[in-house]
Amino acid sequence: MDLKEKVRIIDGFPFAGISFKDITPLLSDPDVYMETVNQLEKLVQNLDEKPDIIVAPESRGFFFGIPLAFKMGIGFVPARKPGKLPCEVVSQEYTLEYGTNAIEMHKDAVGPGTKVLIIDDLIATGGTLLATAQLVEKMGGRIVGMAAVIELTDIGGHEKLKKYNPIALISYP
Ligand code: 5GP
Repeated sequence: MDLKEKVRIIDGFPFAGISFKDITPLLSDPDVYMETVNQLEKLVQNLDEKPDIIVAPESRGFFFGIPLAFKMGIGFVPARKPGKLPCEVVSQEYTLEYGTNAIEMHKDAVGPGTKVLIIDDLIATGGTLLATAQLVEKMGGRIVGMAAVIELTDIGGHEKLKKYNPIALISYP
């Protein structure tokens, strides 16, 4: 199945000049959703080391990170927007494609040496996944893989994330 055909492009959202990649059609059809998760699993099956957990940033990362963790039989740890998690957190600021933000994880969510696969829906500038990786590393986790459904290839995300060898199912210039 060609998943690229299922992604909906919305020009001018959320601002003029942005060509937004809408991934909701990948979720609403059960066959397409399953195929997307299956393809993600294949994409990460040849990592050098098997991850212990998947970490994904809120919220679109959850759509793919959770079913993939379930399918791989490993745990899932959310990286959330500020103020959402109830226990002690570690925080990381980052620059978005459209502004700045921060993400947080529970301080005890990733132990030293935990092997982490980071998943998100889309890599644009790479800021979100870089912050997620830095957060994991602050807690002593080790990134063994980084994957997304979509990668935008011409705005520097791959370069910013290159030490983590990011991989994606679909790419757009
Ligand atoms: P980055 O931090 O790499 O610049 O932006 C990626 C983050 O912003 C991802 O978490 C993603 O959810 C969101 N994002 C930015 N642009 C788009 C887009 O065109 N489509 C979707 N689905 N998400 C986007």
